Amino acid sequence: MSTYSAPLKDMQFVINELVGLDDIAALPGCGEVSADLVDAVLTEAAKFAQEVLDPLNRSGDLQGARLMDGKVIAPDGFAGAYKQFAEAGWNGLSGQTEFGGQGLPHIVAMPVQEMWNSANMAFCLCPMLTSGVLEVLHSYGTAEQQQTYMTKLTSGAWAGTMNLTEPQAGSDLSAVRARAVPEGDHYRIHGTKIFITWGEHDMAENIIHLVLARTPDAPEGVKGISLFVVPKFLVNGDGSLGARNDVKCVSIEHKLGIHASPTCVLAYGDQKGAAGYLIGEENRGLEYMFTMMNHARLGVGMEGVALAERAYQHALEYAKTRVQGREIGQRSGDRVTIIHHPDVRRMLMSMKAQTEAMRALAYFAAAALDQAKHHPDDKQRRRQQALIDLLTPIVKGWCTEQSVEIATTGIQVHGGMGFVEETGAAQFLRDARITTIYEGTTGIQANDLIGRKVAFEQGATAKAVIAAMRAVDGELAKHAELAAIRAPLAAGIDAVEAATNWLVATYPKDAKAASASAVPYLKLFGTVAGGWQMARAALIAQSRLDAKAGDADFYRAKVVTARFYADHILPQAGALNHAVVHGADSVLALDAAQF
Ligand SMILES: Cc1cc2nc3c(=O)[nH]c(=O)nc-3n(C[C@H](O)[C@H](O)[C@H](O)COP(=O)(O)OP(=O)(O)OC[C@H]3O[C@@H](n4cnc5c(N)ncnc54)[C@H](O)[C@@H]3O)c2cc1C
Repeated sequence: MSTYSAPLKDMQFVINELVGLDDIAALPGCGEVSADLVDAVLTEAAKFAQEVLDPLNRSGDLQGARLMDGKVIAPDGFAGAYKQFAEAGWNGLSGQTEFGGQGLPHIVAMPVQEMWNSANMAFCLCPMLTSGVLEVLHSYGTAEQQQTYMTKLTSGAWAGTMNLTEPQAGSDLSAVRARAVPEGDHYRIHGTKIFITWGEHDMAENIIHLVLARTPDAPEGVKGISLFVVPKFLVNGDGSLGARNDVKCVSIEHKLGIHASPTCVLAYGDQKGAAGYLIGEENRGLEYMFTMMNHARLGVGMEGVALAERAYQHALEYAKTRVQGREIGQRSGDRVTIIHHPDVRRMLMSMKAQTEAMRALAYFAAAALDQAKHHPDDKQRRRQQALIDLLTPIVKGWCTEQSVEIATTGIQVHGGMGFVEETGAAQFLRDARITTIYEGTTGIQANDLIGRKVAFEQGATAKAVIAAMRAVDGELAKHAELAAIRAPLAAGIDAVEAATNWLVATYPKDAKAASASAVPYLKLFGTVAGGWQMARAALIAQSRLDAKAGDADFYRAKVVTARFYADHILPQAGALNHAVVHGADSVLALDAAQF
């Protein structure tokens, strides 16, 4: 079993050189973020991930969360690790300073989140949901609600959850049926929520649920859903914990992966109804919840990057130790480790290149989020917001879909030992498999991308990104060493431009055909945007090599990895564009009865 080692060099390269920490540090409110501070935070986070979280990943998978006498018990060691996590202040890394957080920008928090997820994704889901709850309370909560909940949530003393799903309401939240009946200054919540991550557990003193429900006279559909904060233990006026609220966990799911994370069925209102407190205005709940979902969607995209990295490290270690066969073309002599076989190298390079491209795109999105929040110029803030809106479904959908593929390749590198559980390679695939499903499936992300993000504004932001991608070619042309990247990148950009034009033209007249092409379009955009970031990375690396500055081995490997991406991954763009522009007919040709 390999141990996790945080890829600090690549993280620091992306943060400092590719995305540009200086630009973020120049934003109002981000002035304390120096390269030294970021290095210190990343180094400490790496230690925590490697020494505390990683050792619990396998045991947590094997033991799983348990429901005993109505209580959900986290796997051995998890509660202790959570206490250490909270005491070290990790829970409030990007939290609001007035509630005890450290207010660090997303460009720092995202890489830290990557480490937690690589080391132990099941654990990391708990603080990730808490930070989503904080985001909603900060944006829409009353001063009293903020005062009551935010300090404890920021410290990690209390944890948060997100309660959307019901048996009949998964992707389609307009079908939510949970009821909220007004009673004095609060509401009584009744109903069943399913699949609630960390919905009940013994790691925090209290759990603060955000719950979607309908008030008695609410209109049908999405416009009749309100959002409530429902604490597991009611909170007294002085902040101490009061009576147990009327919400309980009735079962936890037995599932393919993330065994250590309890996925709960929560029953609200078995007695008189759970006390719930309205957030914002009635009937605007889904709009508020989208704040949390967008936050969580980027976080889930980051899970994809993290599991891809972990699967790669695991496969690499195996490839360096497993002895099998001789070097190709040699009939005698020593047997070699499998990393000597060209096809194993190809697999490892594909894992490495895609993971680095995903990381670069995800951190680029994190920086856009910081710009959208903090830039002093209103126009710039709106431009960056449009960019992050476009990138969120791509980072979520593309990085998670790729993580499943990368984890599968990791198993292939192991041969038969990948298919048996004891090597641990299978856990990464099992854990990765949920990431394309929760927080909106890939199909839902893709519909959001083509409808609300691309067609809605006639492709304006997508076309601005495409123009930025094209601008890289002039720079690439100045370096003979990077010539091989140019043609595949240009062809990829042509493909994404053609597909964007097709979507903008098709969506208004035939939304069904556009939707049939949505997932190939999302993958196409991710693939080419990843290639763009890798080309930019190669440019920086080559300049450093030319200037004989810095770590030459790292920069040489970056150039080679970008070249691999251009040779092996970018050509997929042509096929994806074909599927977008020509593929809808065959998707829709058979009616339901003809399948
Ligand atoms: C382990 C786990 C943890 C979870 N954690 C939480 C949580 O903490 N809180 C919470 O509220 N929920 C949670 N969920 C629920 C999760 O968000 C839903 O499972 C997910 O949104 C999909 O809903 P569904 O399962 O009902 O599938 P369905 O909506 O029934 O979808 C089935 C298939 O149909 C497709 N589909 C459905 N509608 C469309 C459409 N309009 N266009 C295109 N394709 C479509 C989907 O892409 C999918 O392939 C969790 C689920 C799991 C398994």
